Amino acid sequence: MRALVKTEAGPGLTMMDVPEPICGPNEVKIRVLRAGLCGTDLHIEEWDDWAAATLRPPLVVGHEFFGEVVEVGPEVTSVHVGKKVSAEGHIVCGQCRNCRAGLRQLCIRTRGIGVNRDGAFADYVVMPETNVWTHPDDMDPDVGALFDPLGNATHTALMFPLVGEDVLVTGAGPIGVMAAAIAKHVGARHVVVTDVSDYRLDLARAAGADLVLNVTGDRSIADAQRAIGMREGFDIGLEMSGAPSAVNDMIANMNHGGRIAMLGLPKDPYPIDWGKVITHMLTIKGIYGREMYDTWYKMAAMLQTSPTLFAAVKGVVTHRVNADDWPDAWAAARSGACGKVIMDWS
Ligand SMILES: [Zn+2]
Ligand SMILES: [Zn+2]
Repeated sequence: MRALVKTEAGPGLTMMDVPEPICGPNEVKIRVLRAGLCGTDLHIEEWDDWAAATLRPPLVVGHEFFGEVVEVGPEVTSVHVGKKVSAEGHIVCGQCRNCRAGLRQLCIRTRGIGVNRDGAFADYVVMPETNVWTHPDDMDPDVGALFDPLGNATHTALMFPLVGEDVLVTGAGPIGVMAAAIAKHVGARHVVVTDVSDYRLDLARAAGADLVLNVTGDRSIADAQRAIGMREGFDIGLEMSGAPSAVNDMIANMNHGGRIAMLGLPKDPYPIDWGKVITHMLTIKGIYGREMYDTWYKMAAMLQTSPTLFAAVKGVVTHRVNADDWPDAWAAARSGACGKVIMDWS
């Protein structure tokens, strides 16, 4: 089968022919139809410090996908051949304290597909039955491929109650845009999104943000607050950029008692205005991944009941590239003038 492989330590990827993965007794073999490109995949291709410290090549990369079940192991009972599925890409140990408490997203030995074991940029991927999420038969393939990042957006956006709250989203990548749409869906009052790319801010506006702000321009977040009649600061912050300046801007624009959910991963440690965090009595919560599997139920239900949210989520897909032309997908993702880039493996 075709697979996009990190063959050895160092930059680059190779599209090559590899043996199909074997389906174990508790596993499901999936024919990949669509796969989404993530920031993680860019880091792996360029081989930055994180990738060098984490990956053990050779490895099939990729973790965001949608596909069709072609084989199930003899002990699989809940997943059937022919079903359209996505999968939670974190495979947990089941033995650590958090796993045994049912808090699988906090597993101390979690292993990610496309990072710690073979992933989904391939014709076939094998997943444990417990990780497979079955979609309705008429699921839109692009939206199906978004369930992994939509899970990040959902888990982050729903970390704190949003009804009637003023929400600041820093970073208008696909996850930030989807989080803004979710915030509006669940009843936030004002949702303001910041970024440095007008292209991405247009996506946020289309997804329902009340106000978008390019922080490289003349207007500050404080100006934006005044423009929409806010007087006291944001109640909720959703940090999606990993940019130190965005985090400090957010802290400076929160109301007293404000709550911040942080998903954006910074490249390096950086200074924070802790005096403001303390005297403004802010709560800061780190977020990684998504809940297994409550977030999956929540996002599936929200898409099912809200055509508006469904359209907003589908709207973050801006590029579809044939898998054989995979360098074009990386080029589009690196350009910054993109939302989610999807590879078509069908
Ligand atoms: Zn991802
Ligand atoms: Zn565990």
